[in-house]
Amino acid sequence: MQFIETRGNNGHNPQRVSFSDAILSPSASFGGLYVPQNIPKVNQPFLEKHLKSHYKTLALDFLQAFKIDIEEEVLKAALDRYDGFDDSTNPVPLSKIEKDCFVAELYHGPTRAFKDMALQPFGYILSKVAEQRGEEYLIMAATSGDTGPATLETFKNQKGVKVACLYPDGGTSDVQKLQMVTEDASNLKVIGVKGNFDDTQNALKALLASEDFKEELQERGIKLSAANSVNFGRIIFQIIYHIHLYLELVRKEEITLGDKVYLVVPSGNFGNALGAYYAKKAGLPIEKILISSNVNNILTDWIKTGSYDLTTRTLVQTESPAMDILKSSNIERILFDKFGDTRTKELMELLESEGRFTLGESELALLREDFDASFSDDEECNAVIGKYAKNNYIMDPHTATCMRAYETLREKPLMTIVYSTAEWTKFSPAVAKALGAEVPHDTDALDWVKKHANVTVPAMISGLFSKPIIHTVVVEKESIKREMLNFL
Ligand SMILES: *Cc1c(COP(=O)(O)O)cnc(C)c1O
Repeated sequence: MQFIETRGNNGHNPQRVSFSDAILSPSASFGGLYVPQNIPKVNQPFLEKHLKSHYKTLALDFLQAFKIDIEEEVLKAALDRYDGFDDSTNPVPLSKIEKDCFVAELYHGPTRAFKDMALQPFGYILSKVAEQRGEEYLIMAATSGDTGPATLETFKNQKGVKVACLYPDGGTSDVQKLQMVTEDASNLKVIGVKGNFDDTQNALKALLASEDFKEELQERGIKLSAANSVNFGRIIFQIIYHIHLYLELVRKEEITLGDKVYLVVPSGNFGNALGAYYAKKAGLPIEKILISSNVNNILTDWIKTGSYDLTTRTLVQTESPAMDILKSSNIERILFDKFGDTRTKELMELLESEGRFTLGESELALLREDFDASFSDDEECNAVIGKYAKNNYIMDPHTATCMRAYETLREKPLMTIVYSTAEWTKFSPAVAKALGAEVPHDTDALDWVKKHANVTVPAMISGLFSKPIIHTVVVEKESIKREMLNFL
């Protein structure tokens, strides 16, 4: 399988690259992204063959159908990362919350957010490829929450990769911060930045663009890569769980093989939703992918009206911060798949120059064949959390945004999978609030919810509060570069 570029080729870069090249250097010509030339079939015979497969068996077969340039032993070892999840035979349990609705819990990995589903195996593969090539990569991440912990966790003590993670000091939850600053490995660096997430992200972008920083890296023989969802190496693992969950519904006799289902995906950078889209394109019987957002509902507007408009918006902080995003990177891959590279380049350039673009009527109709969308504000999410808590199911605020899409967007009475992207323990003050108590600090809120809702807190969360703090550096933006070079 070869990978091509969403904005076409600039005449200098190769026209096509291998999977390993695409994951090591994920940015393509004209600022575009890499996409596979095609997607292997997930047809009836494939699904029948895997009716009794464990997660890893299905995953290996799907990855091999992709014919990527990664040896079987490496793929197998990468998938063995799922052994660290709560249940290695079924890393993504389903919970029935309505007669025709299941929650797919994508958060049973080491950092209790769905980022682990892809980052765990991806991190192993990336560092193996770097090691095999005898190269050294630096991955820099700015995080407001879940990406930082999951990135550090997957690369800790891995060869060929160093990770530097910047977080806004005071801009993450206690649990998220502790997950980062207690990570103890010599290839990891965590830096607190004075300012908010935007300041942190802008500081990172400035550093990545700076010529003398690049020169310094070159002198040290270090290359830059990225582990955010622009990297296709993450997306490939986000196709698999949609297939597995469909088969789970068949195994539970909730549907018959071939029946269509709705998927409801809480979206930020559209990686999870893109995985669902590729699964549908590959042949998985999906009626529609319903996109849910919080009040930063630029995706709702885009899918409803065809207009993607940054100029009328400012980012609002919500109780579902992983979805507080306005520039959603993976919609570019949808544009490419539907309209081709010339049009994608045109639309993405409009977004950069004018801050907006609008699809034509027929383009919008094509988009709406696969997607519909809605959003919920914090108040609505609190009500949803409260409602399901009464039925003894505790969900986090990101998951709660999905229930409005489930209730209002389905046109047919089909079985529905709602994706739960974080365990409640990562957002315990918000969950406590939804259950009626103001408990601002994570330690107290975890206890309060635990007692009140009769749920457990996993050891990797409760243990954080007594772990030694390794990374104590908090700096002004101007000092990030110096800290980085010290680390390298
Ligand atoms: C990252 C994240 C999302 C958004 O996922 P995308 O793939 O970026 O759309 C939603 N919820 C949680 C809890 C997350 O960490």
